[in-house]
Amino acid sequence: MAEKARTQISIRNLKKAYGDFTVLHGIDLDIAEGEVVCVVGPSGSGKSTLIRCINRLEGFSEESSIEIDGLPVKRGPELAQVRAEVGMVFQNFNLFPHMSVVRNVMLAPMRVRGTSAEKARSHALALLKRVGISEQAEKYPAQLSGGQQQRVAIARALAMEPRVMLFDEPTSALDPEMVGEVLDVMRDLAGTGVTMIIVTHEMGFARQVADRVIFMDGGRVVEAGTPAAIFDSPQEARTRDFLRAVL
Ligand code: ADP
Ligand code: MG
Repeated sequence: MAEKARTQISIRNLKKAYGDFTVLHGIDLDIAEGEVVCVVGPSGSGKSTLIRCINRLEGFSEESSIEIDGLPVKRGPELAQVRAEVGMVFQNFNLFPHMSVVRNVMLAPMRVRGTSAEKARSHALALLKRVGISEQAEKYPAQLSGGQQQRVAIARALAMEPRVMLFDEPTSALDPEMVGEVLDVMRDLAGTGVTMIIVTHEMGFARQVADRVIFMDGGRVVEAGTPAAIFDSPQEARTRDFLRAVL
């Protein structure tokens, strides 16, 4: 990450509730351009909700604000513009099953940006090559392994040339032997300057790749710091208990 990179994502007092149940209790977080942030914490701590709020897949309280590159993430005409800057990769790939791999990757630039089929296709093929699956371009998602499908999902997100990439447990649904190939693609991506927010249980990956690790529990950021600070000398008892259980 560049020194003194500017703030790209600014989250203020982020609150989210389902009825009486508060999932996020007023989170404040600034993320710098090009920063790689890994979010860790127990199940149910609000990690998915936090990152889904960033592109407003989840709505949030009126008193909260999120800005990306100065644009507010709120309902209205600017939301599509903000979303076009943010790629998302889910645990379960979420590819379109009735479309070939290359069509999956071509779709958003054609629909959202009006890119020609020819241009979208050559860009898609280049991205598939970058994630190591150019031979699978004409297959359908169901014909691919989980690791291959997740690499297609990453290529599909990259096709919009996003400035921010959100990952929600991208390797949690994979057989163990496929985790490494997806993490390798993400590790390469981390060197390209795109801002990345990654919810993960892969602590080795987080230690190696993150600029900052955020530990969440009970809908709050309990502790945040460099991988060395969080993994080697956590300050909070809840962080220590979590790490003792998972490491
Ligand atoms: P994590 O990703 O850290 O496991 P989530 O963000 O998925 O946590 O969920 C945080 C809390 O919000 C959990 O207690 C979960 O049960 C609750 N929750 C998530 N989605 C909903 C929903 N649609 N309705 C009610 N509660 C929800
Ligand atoms: Mg989750």
